[in-house]
Amino acid sequence: MNELPDNYNSNHILIAGAGPAGLMLGHLLHQRDIPFHIVEKNARSHQHSRAIGIHPISLKIFEEIGVLDLFLEDAFKISKGAAYLERTFVGSIDFSPLPFKHPFILTLPQYRTERILRDDLLTKQPGCISYSTAVEDFKRDKDKVRVRLRDQCTHTPDEMALEVAASFLVGCDGKNSQVRQKTSLQWEGSPYPGTYVMGDFQGRPPNGIPAIIHLHPDGVVESFALPKNRQRWVVKTDRNAGAPSNIVRGEVQRRVGSNLTDHRCLHSSRFGIERYKAHKFFDGRIILAGDAAHVVSPIGGQGMNLGWMGTRTLADCLVSIYRGSTYSDQLKIYDSIQQRRASKAITRAEINMKLGQAYHWKLPRRVLLNLLLNTPLERITARLFTMHGLDRWPV
Ligand SMILES: Cc1cc2nc3c(=O)[nH]c(=O)nc-3n(C[C@H](O)[C@H](O)[C@H](O)COP(=O)(O)OP(=O)(O)OC[C@H]3O[C@@H](n4cnc5c(N)ncnc54)[C@H](O)[C@@H]3O)c2cc1C
Repeated sequence: MNELPDNYNSNHILIAGAGPAGLMLGHLLHQRDIPFHIVEKNARSHQHSRAIGIHPISLKIFEEIGVLDLFLEDAFKISKGAAYLERTFVGSIDFSPLPFKHPFILTLPQYRTERILRDDLLTKQPGCISYSTAVEDFKRDKDKVRVRLRDQCTHTPDEMALEVAASFLVGCDGKNSQVRQKTSLQWEGSPYPGTYVMGDFQGRPPNGIPAIIHLHPDGVVESFALPKNRQRWVVKTDRNAGAPSNIVRGEVQRRVGSNLTDHRCLHSSRFGIERYKAHKFFDGRIILAGDAAHVVSPIGGQGMNLGWMGTRTLADCLVSIYRGSTYSDQLKIYDSIQQRRASKAITRAEINMKLGQAYHWKLPRRVLLNLLLNTPLERITARLFTMHGLDRWPV
């Protein structure tokens, strides 16, 4: 377990988890001069590609915390996308006229996003993350939370677990949040039917188009350009025999006609899609953020971005608390804004998934797709894909 810094005291906010949400909250609190410390149960960062899409609303937050240039250097910029119906081009979508300061989506594998956020945060505030340190339990104590931390490397006996006091404990510890499970907050939601496989390969997506939705009777296939001459493919399929990389190769060849045989696969996985939300995002001085608070279907790529928007709102509420506002009033504000945002993001992800099923629409699908992509309605479709408006209040 990394030592807690010498200046750690019970006025600090303790953040559980150094994933995208925990790291972003660390940046926002550092910038606002609020004392905080992050504990992360893993020894070091993972290598999972997972989230790749970073939306314009997050680029605004990146600019605020001073990391935008680091991302622009590393990531791939997507300003346009296209839709194909059984290998025939049906229309395109352009993000550049949208009313954003940075009207494009960046793609970058999640582990590299986390690395940029982590390295920059540790440069700004050395020692602010303790790795191999898990939040195991907590209890409430007047105006503090007493948090029990455990060293993940040495499996310390009970008497060696460390207990620290904190002004607030923020669970940024992901979908299966230990912090949430130890509160009475209800967790509601369910999986959607259907499964997907994804793979990151070397090379560029077909026709030089950086983002394509291929509609096919057997299920949607999506392709995205990644930095460093790489490409992400996502395929809806119930096939589960064999390695995910081989399923991606086979289905992409069969449905889209692109041959990935000679392209090395760098990451691949199979995933289900689901939606969950805690009915409240705080319980006294215990707060939830990121996937610990809400899980959105990854189709549409919003979960990580939604978590960042929540931490942005939460950081402002925490500043007001440290300046003397009543904590429960401020946390109610965070809860009400982020609950509405999460509900909207869940609905948008569902619309996004329905677009992926367009092949099976009963109405003339070509006419509808034409309306959505090749008329002024395209603006609305583009806003939907870029999480436009979810950073505003009222949401
Ligand atoms: C296939 C796939 C594709 C996706 N694509 C996108 C996309 O393109 N765009 C997008 O916005 N979202 C996307 N998402 C969603 C995105 O990956 C998640 O929303 C994001 O990872 C949530 O970040 P988080 O920090 O809340 O949680 P996590 O990433 O789960 O991080 C939680 C952290 O907490 C640590 N932790 C857990 N328990 C403890 C404990 N007890 N004590 C201390 N630390 C602990 C974990 O080790 C981990 O580091 C995708 C998801 C999947 C599965």
